[in-house]
Formats: sequence, C-alpha cells, structure tokens
Amino acid sequence: MLYQEQQLKMYNSLSGEKEVFKPIHEGKVGMYVCGPTVYSYVHLGNCRTFISFDLVYRYLKHLGYAVRYVRNITDVGHMVDDVDEGEDKIAKRARIEQIEPMEIVQKYTLNFHNILKQFNNLPPSIEPTATGHIIEQIEIIQSIIANGYAYEVNGSVYFDVEKYNKDHRYGILSGRKIEDMISNTRELDGQSDKRSPLDFALWKNAEPQHIMRWPSPWGDGFPGWHLECTAMSTKYLGKHFDIHGGGMDLKFPHHECEIAQNEASTGNSPVNYWMHANMLTLNGKKMAKSTGNNILPDELFSGENTILSKGFAPTVARFFILQAHYRSILDFSDDAILASERGYMRLMETIKSLKELKTSSNSSVDVAKWKQSCYDAMNDDFNSPILIANLFEAVKFINLIKDNKETITAADLENLTTSLNAFVFDVLGLEDSDGVSANNEKLEGVVNMLIGMRNEARANKDFAMSDHIRDELAKIGIQLKDGKEGTSFTL
Ligand SMILES: [Zn+2]
Repeated sequence: MLYQEQQLKMYNSLSGEKEVFKPIHEGKVGMYVCGPTVYSYVHLGNCRTFISFDLVYRYLKHLGYAVRYVRNITDVGHMVDDVDEGEDKIAKRARIEQIEPMEIVQKYTLNFHNILKQFNNLPPSIEPTATGHIIEQIEIIQSIIANGYAYEVNGSVYFDVEKYNKDHRYGILSGRKIEDMISNTRELDGQSDKRSPLDFALWKNAEPQHIMRWPSPWGDGFPGWHLECTAMSTKYLGKHFDIHGGGMDLKFPHHECEIAQNEASTGNSPVNYWMHANMLTLNGKKMAKSTGNNILPDELFSGENTILSKGFAPTVARFFILQAHYRSILDFSDDAILASERGYMRLMETIKSLKELKTSSNSSVDVAKWKQSCYDAMNDDFNSPILIANLFEAVKFINLIKDNKETITAADLENLTTSLNAFVFDVLGLEDSDGVSANNEKLEGVVNMLIGMRNEARANKDFAMSDHIRDELAKIGIQLKDGKEGTSFTL
C-alpha cells in the first residue's frame, strides 16, 4: 500500500505541531467533520472548509486507507449567535419563511448537497443528523450526570465546566485558561439557571411555544448544539478515533466542549488528530451577509454578483481554493480567481496534450523525482499549493519536450501521465470543465432522442408509452414542457 511508502504528516491543533500520522487501526482511518447547520444557503467560506476536508479524504483514500468519513447535518440545537439562550437557528428560519422546521432542513440540506456536488466533493460515508440521534444524546447526558459533571435545573441540563476542570483540563484544545475565561465572561444575569457562565447546555427545557421538542428524563426539550457531534462521532467511529475536523471558528467553544463531553462520559480523550481549516475573506474583509461583503456559490458560478466580472466553473473555484493551504487565510477577489482560471486552463491543456508527446530512447527529465516531490507536498500537511506548483513544473518540462528541448521515454511518459491524472483528478478533485459540457451535449442528445420516441408514440396514440417516457424522465429530474414550438426540457 502507498501509505507504507509515504510518510504523511498532519498539523494537530491539539499539540500545535505537525505529527506523523499513525491510525489507531492499521490501514483504516476514522474521520469526523462538523457539517453545516442547515438554516440558510451554504456560503463560500463553508464550501472552502468542506473542500479542504474533501482533499484530506481524497488523499487518505489515494494512499490506500479505508476511510470512514462521517459528516453530520445540524438540524436542531444550534442557537442564534451560538449561545445557549434564545432561538434555534432553524426554528427562527421556519418562523420567517412560515414553513415547518423540517422543510427548512430539507431545503437547505438539498442546497448544500447540490453545491458540494458541483464542487466535486465526494459524499461522506455516513451523514447523520442531530434529530436522528436524540436517544444517543440523552444517553450521553445521563452518563455525564452519573459521573458528576452535569446538573439539572428546571428541565435543562448543564455541563459543569469548573468541576470538570478540576479533574481534566478544559481549554486543552484552544489553549485557553479557565481563570482567563472566567474573568472574560459576563456575570450571569440572574435569569440563568447556570451555576457558572462557563457552563454550557447539554439539554434545554422547551418552552410551550418551542416547536422542536422531544421527551426526555428531564421533560420535553431539545439537545445542546455541542452534544450532537459527541453522540454521532462516538456512535459511528467509537470512543476513540483518528481525525476530527472543522472550521477554525469551531475550535472554541464547540470542539473544546466536545472533548469535555467525551472525557466526562467515557473518560477518554476522543480524538488523536484535530484539524482546523482557515477562513475565506472577500476583498480583504471577513464575509458577512449583513455588510453585503458576501458571495454565494451560485452567484460565483453564474457571475451574478457585482464584485464579479463573469461566472466561473465550480472546478475553477475549487482550483482557486486549493491554491492556498487549508490552514492559511484565503482572500477571494475577481482578479485572484481570474488568475486561477488561466492557470487551470494551462494545466488542462497540458494534460490533454500528453497524448501527442513524442517519446525517445532516454529521458532527460526525472519523472520519478518529480512524482515524489508531489507526494512530499501532500505528505507535508496536505500542502496543495506546493503540489500545484509541482504540477506546473511538469507543465514546463512537458512544453520543453514538445519543443524538442527535453526528452522522455515511453515508460516515463506513462508514469507521468498516470501520476498527473492521479494528482489532478483523484487527489485535488479537479474536473475538465470541457469534459463536463461534452457530457451535457451527450445527455441532451439522449433526451432529444427520447422526445422523438415520445412524439412517435403520441402520433400512434400510444399514450401509455408517451406518459411513461415523460414520467421516467421526471423521476431523474428532467422535466419536459410541451409548447407551440414543440417539446423543450431543462437538465
Ligand atoms: Zn460539531
């Protein structure tokens, strides 16, 4: 297996160092990544996080690991402003749009899947939802209470941070000290049931008007946001697993709370390697819907946003994102993605031209060394920008071979072609956008053929057949529309 030949190192947020990756079970990797709270359209910054972990997933698979990749959907418990009081993000959206909370969840989950598919992200092995794991969450709360690290007040259950900190260390991941946290938090306002402002909710009592509610030993309520990830990661990956990832903004308090919940319920530190992806800024500023300094993936693809000169293929956007290391802040601008698009085109043209390359009896280029330098880049904490720089080294020497200034043997050319394809399409997950449109042309041809057959069936009064064709196409999302000009369709 490749993983026996390549030594992968990854930056562990827990130690603050790059560490050699050693999975708990030989040849297998368990990876959990915090998924989206599905209460609005996924924004580009979130997409960057999920593309970063898609790169990690793809590279681990490329190395030959059997990876179980779990990424959750948060469909309850995430409160507005990430606090314990107030309104649930999904319930609030449901109130504004005047639909059921689960319609909100469905709408934005579909949007999330659709966008990530366009970015060519591989789906996770398991995608559990918080509402589907209420029983598991209640069980964890019970074990935390039994171990003395949580208390119940008025139907809500809170995690006792100070008590936990006496036996463990709260702040181990974020490097925060509990004394500083205490002096930096506001005093409780008397309305709160919490013993300390540092405590966080494991279970919240539901007010009568609260729609999303479940029965529990403490009365009707709903789980706290941090708890779901502990419940779902433990269920599908065990009490102790290899990698936990998420956006940098989740490190504290979300991931800190996850560690505390796991330790308090099982006595184990759950994760060996914590990974955090950095954020995406827009024209040098943090993206925020409120200031208008924001861009949605669909706007990026269509070009319908004032900051864009045109639309960009999703794969070009992916290439742009991977040109920065996942731990660096990446700034998005029209100029920057235009430059990426030029680079992407050059890379794709070069790959296509490999077929025409003339071979010689000896190589003046060192393909094996080049290939290892690509692995070295990825082995160094998934350094995609260095990998891409190496890919452009290959572009350079391929062009020199074309100009008869360098030579390559047939065996080396085969090795080069296989490796380039592997790094560009399998590891980076790029797509040939020409290829995508060619596929659409083929699909259009097939649909037109079916429309012709349907017209024939109607002319023969075989309405069962004509309806069958229309209904089967509708099932796969292709709607036929009959008009004066004939039948049209949208893919
Ligand atoms: Zn999470």
